Amino acid sequence: MACFSLATQPSPMAMRRAGLLGRHFASPFRLLCRQISVEPQATVDRLKESGLLRTQGLIGGKWIDAYDGKTIQVQNPATGDVIASVPCMGRNETTNAISSAYNTFSSWSKLTASERSKCLRKWYDLIISHKEDLALLITLEQGKPLKESLGEVSYGAAFIEFFAEEAKRIYGDIIAPTIDDRRLLVLKQPVGVVGAITPWNFPLAMITRKVGPALACGCTVVVKPSEYTPLTALAAAELALQAGIPPGALNVVMGNASDIGDTLLESTQVRKITFTGSTAVGKKLMAGSASTVKKISLELGGNAPCIVFDDADLDVAVKGSLAAKFRNSGQTCVCANRILVQEGIYEKFANAFAKAVQALQVGNGLIEGTVQGPLINEAALEKVETMVQDATAKGADVVTGGKRHSLGMTFYEPTVLGNVNKEMLIFRQEVFGPVAPLMRFKTEEEAIQMANDTNAGLAAYIFTTSMPRTWRVSEALEYGLVGVNEGLISTEVAPFGGFKQSGLGREGSKYGMDEYLEIKYVCLGNLKGT
Ligand code: ADP
Repeated sequence: MACFSLATQPSPMAMRRAGLLGRHFASPFRLLCRQISVEPQATVDRLKESGLLRTQGLIGGKWIDAYDGKTIQVQNPATGDVIASVPCMGRNETTNAISSAYNTFSSWSKLTASERSKCLRKWYDLIISHKEDLALLITLEQGKPLKESLGEVSYGAAFIEFFAEEAKRIYGDIIAPTIDDRRLLVLKQPVGVVGAITPWNFPLAMITRKVGPALACGCTVVVKPSEYTPLTALAAAELALQAGIPPGALNVVMGNASDIGDTLLESTQVRKITFTGSTAVGKKLMAGSASTVKKISLELGGNAPCIVFDDADLDVAVKGSLAAKFRNSGQTCVCANRILVQEGIYEKFANAFAKAVQALQVGNGLIEGTVQGPLINEAALEKVETMVQDATAKGADVVTGGKRHSLGMTFYEPTVLGNVNKEMLIFRQEVFGPVAPLMRFKTEEEAIQMANDTNAGLAAYIFTTSMPRTWRVSEALEYGLVGVNEGLISTEVAPFGGFKQSGLGREGSKYGMDEYLEIKYVCLGNLKGT
């Protein structure tokens, strides 16, 4: 029944593989690191005591196992150790989660905006006060460095805070009538039950930027987190309950992805699907939404160009490209996927960039100083290997890295490839790993053409000191986000989303609210009557 089979003691071999033995830790994460690496049981106890190590699904405010008792194991990608088992749910549990969200919609949507706002604000406060524990969970199940996990908690929480405020800023309209005894009103109302399907690369933030605006608007939600990273989602849901978000307003199911997805798609009670993940799954969800004509938001894959012009400040370009490429070991949809460098600065940039890449410390994310964790799984590692092999077979040079890391597991060496061209897979597809392909270009027109020569259109980066060029190129890029002289540009106050096959809709910012609202026109007629 219950799933508290916590295999938490990494084997000495696993710890050695991940570089956890024989290390001395320094502040600021010293205590945190020591608890996890040297006394894993203490870490689990700490998480248990905090009440955050939830290992069941959440339906109607109750923590539930899979009805058939099946479970899936959640592994630490840095060591291979099983952190916990969670229920492997499917159609029946999802149907009940939808009913629970549907029933709760009638009361949650009728609260005042201010009442909903207060619950969300409380949720934000609880996330912040459990920041360290949530960060530990993220690093344990996802592998990113603890410092990045702490950053994700702040970033993820910021969406709740922002949308708690936006809840009070949903405005309608009054339109000048065309007939004098009429008044024309526009109301904005919550769409209803939302199915939110999220990936593993940001186990918290991808949830909060969907659930935050949904709850703020008065919608209720069934979340399906990635089976690789359900523990952070469950911990966040526990804090939502503690914050007074009513049972049934936020439900979490995980397990058989296609059964859960299909149940959400087929239900007439689910009025919206919001998804972050691969383009292939996004297209399936879009097609599947057609039969019940659901509103849909999709945040799909990218193939971000990062254009370094001759007139760029070299240090700014190296620092920005490094951040845009290697954050989360290259596992984000806004990661620079193609670094296009103008021929006049190519050699200087390639040398400085490769030097910076060689300095990136790879290891278990719990060790202070680690900036590159493991990839999420073996399939991800094999994809990276295939793309590097394809590029080198077609003439690319390995400037640095280029193979599995000696730490084993799913660690891959931070890699720079030189002289990449359009014939290589890595130009067309997202590598989603720590590999930076460099390509040369001659003119601004050529760079724009190369940058736009893809079906993706999420993020793009340019490095230049010319203001006219900044305007020209920003306007010419067919991308939803453009970073100029900056590699990290996401924030809760700005719209995030893609052009072309990178998706539909926007998350974050005031625009993020519209995705969860219906527009209703009300015509008041016969005002001359009694
Ligand atoms: P990634 O390759 O980054 O894991 P996916 O698109 O496969 O991206 O996964 C993103 C989310 O979509 C995960 O929660 C995953 O379980 C879910 N998912 C995968 N396949 C389906 C499907 N057929 N229907 C619904 N959700 C799915």
